Amino acid sequence: MACLAGTESPGFSQQMKSDSGCRPLMNTMPGAGERSVFVRIAGIVQGVGFRPFIYQLAHRYELTGWVRNQADGVLIEATGLHEKLDSFLRDISAKAPPLAKITQLEVADLPYEQFEGFSILKSDSHQSRRTLISPDVCTCQDCLRELLDPGDRRYRYPFINCTNCGPRYTIIQDIPYDRGQTTMAAFPMCSECRREYEDPMNRRFHAQPNACWECGPQVWLEDDSGRLLAKKDQAIRRGIRLLEQGKILAIKGLGGFHLAVLATDEVAVSRLRRRKIREEKPFALMFGNVEAIQQQCNISAEEIKLLRSPQRPIVLVKKNHQNAAASIAPSVAPGNRFVGAFLPYTPLHCLLFEQSSCDVLVMTSGNQSDEPIVMANDDARLRLNGIADYFLFHDRDIYMRCDDSVVRVLNQKPRPVRRARGYVPVPIFLSKKVPSLLGVGAELKNTVCLTRENEAFLSQHIGDLENLETLRSFEHAVEHLKRILEIDPKWIVHDLHPDYLSTQWAMSQTDLPRFAVQHHHAHIASVLAERHIEGPVIGLALDGSGYGTDGTIWGGEILRVDGCRFERLAHFRQVLLPGGEKAIKEPWRMAVSYLWSLDPVNVLTTYGDVLNRWPLSKVQVLIQMLNKGLNSPITSSCGRLFDAISALAGLRDSVNYEGQAAIELEQALKEGDEEYRGEVVRKNDVWVLDPFPMVASAIRDVRVGKDSGMISSRFHNGLVSLLVEAVEKISRVRELRRIALSGGVFQNAYLSERLERQLAERGFEVFTHVEVPANDACISLGQAYIGAQKYFAGEGL
Ligand SMILES: [Zn+2]
Ligand SMILES: [Zn+2]
Repeated sequence: MACLAGTESPGFSQQMKSDSGCRPLMNTMPGAGERSVFVRIAGIVQGVGFRPFIYQLAHRYELTGWVRNQADGVLIEATGLHEKLDSFLRDISAKAPPLAKITQLEVADLPYEQFEGFSILKSDSHQSRRTLISPDVCTCQDCLRELLDPGDRRYRYPFINCTNCGPRYTIIQDIPYDRGQTTMAAFPMCSECRREYEDPMNRRFHAQPNACWECGPQVWLEDDSGRLLAKKDQAIRRGIRLLEQGKILAIKGLGGFHLAVLATDEVAVSRLRRRKIREEKPFALMFGNVEAIQQQCNISAEEIKLLRSPQRPIVLVKKNHQNAAASIAPSVAPGNRFVGAFLPYTPLHCLLFEQSSCDVLVMTSGNQSDEPIVMANDDARLRLNGIADYFLFHDRDIYMRCDDSVVRVLNQKPRPVRRARGYVPVPIFLSKKVPSLLGVGAELKNTVCLTRENEAFLSQHIGDLENLETLRSFEHAVEHLKRILEIDPKWIVHDLHPDYLSTQWAMSQTDLPRFAVQHHHAHIASVLAERHIEGPVIGLALDGSGYGTDGTIWGGEILRVDGCRFERLAHFRQVLLPGGEKAIKEPWRMAVSYLWSLDPVNVLTTYGDVLNRWPLSKVQVLIQMLNKGLNSPITSSCGRLFDAISALAGLRDSVNYEGQAAIELEQALKEGDEEYRGEVVRKNDVWVLDPFPMVASAIRDVRVGKDSGMISSRFHNGLVSLLVEAVEKISRVRELRRIALSGGVFQNAYLSERLERQLAERGFEVFTHVEVPANDACISLGQAYIGAQKYFAGEGL
């Protein structure tokens, strides 16, 4: 029955009228106990096997009627016995396909109608872009079973997928989501695949990336001079052998290339590290299965759940030191108690492990240190040349690059560290409808955010906007999201920092109104946005650096945030940043800065015994800079305090990646309850959190030779106490009990867990990030949120 419903109509009641205009077969009296209903479902319900699911469910409960896609979701009309209809409605939510995300389900009774059978109706030709797009999802159990079944026609086919799994976001070029608008357009389906694609009872009904050995993408193996070595299954088998021989293999994946090497082979891993110029940043490890992870790491039930989730993120888990028989090569994560572990998520990954004697591979993003992940074959031949020995290519193009996501569990709850594959482009749902805005994010760990009614779409992790390649990737992400979500932003919101490339890009968009938002205000606002908090909160924004409204560098701030307004209530006692950017890369400079602050006049004599660990000439130059205030901006950064303590404790004088000194200070921690005491003092209109006494205590411990683990724990405990004391004092005066936490410092597990616990014990209501990272990846969401609040406050541009 090809019965097309009437025109689009905005309201639900109108919708009902036009849709019930879909001619029923008969309009007789209801059979005993029969009735008709109309159902409207919104959310991620297209391109995820939702209509066949409804179709099959309707058959199970002997219903008649129809289902079809429309602009903002799925519509159903169904007639059947009361109790069967009830079961049908219950199962829609309870048994929805794994990729579906129902955000709204409305049911209304209709006058009794009877249909001939149950049909899937054609979508409107004008299909709007209001539908949500599914992220890429790991291979499902059904496909996995077929993949390894010698009797199946897709036996060992590395691109097997169905409506419940496979690539989505990374292959979609435009909307509506059908094969012609994806990078699968280059592969016409064979008759067998087409039959599955058109059969509503088949798991591959309208699975856009559907393919097989006959008609779909293929893999092949090349060496680093571009010579073809093997095709199809032979390419995979040879690839495995090469890995086993300690070779570095570039493997094209879902959202980009990985560089793979045997994780147990120290020679191979350190060679990869050398070639990638990635001196110490930990490599992620892909394990064949959960049991293999458990042999090396201690993992909780919550972590196992995350590892096995359809998003398949990298989960930061603790190495198991008893099993230091642990055969993981030391170069994988030097000086780190955690490893980033994840499970195979594409059929190709599964085949690699299936055929191999090894159960763990280094799988790090295929790029040169700071550039975006490589996604095109030619680009890989060029940019990964000199890093990879061999290349396992395929010819399904990646349209949108997307890194692996990273999550860690804190206080039994998952906290994102990098939000990308598997999560993007699922929106963050806002508490109310907002105008369409674009937040362009910060400089490091950049993301962008576009809003559409009550949805905020955060891009995947784009990276540090420090080179042209990353800026191009940023522009591509903005354009792509605007197109596939059909969002035409009215304003652009950017950071206050004039030098951020994202700010400069925003300033160049002269056709749209733009305005600036302070960095730490945006941090706290992003918590309010995702946690649906109305009214004022006390926000603790602790990170490395952000441009302050007074021109100094902020980073240890306590703000009162109420929508588009904020007030700086407190900050860490300021110090100088000798050498500016250089002080971020060289934490020993921060140690000297704190020592100088403690005794500016006699620093060389008072602290000579501490300073003598660094070359005297360098120390003298630095002290001169500090004395004269040369190239030494003022900062209240909490991240830089961690740097100073890390250097004083003898852990880190210079860093190879952002946050390394603080991370190693946390790693070194030996649990205990002693602490260094700081002070919270009132100074004019603001409170000052003074860690100077803590630094002085740390120096005493350094002098008597206390080990870094002890210094770390006393520092962490003291810092938590200092923050709690500040919050208590401020909340008493300001009568606020709700506390929001944001900023990269909160990726410190020990600090976060302890602070959250202590605040909760004192009766505060504590709000942390849940869906977006606490680091600068959340800034774009905060910017968009503040833009919307300005609009509501009547401060529109
Ligand atoms: Zn599947
Ligand atoms: Zn086929």
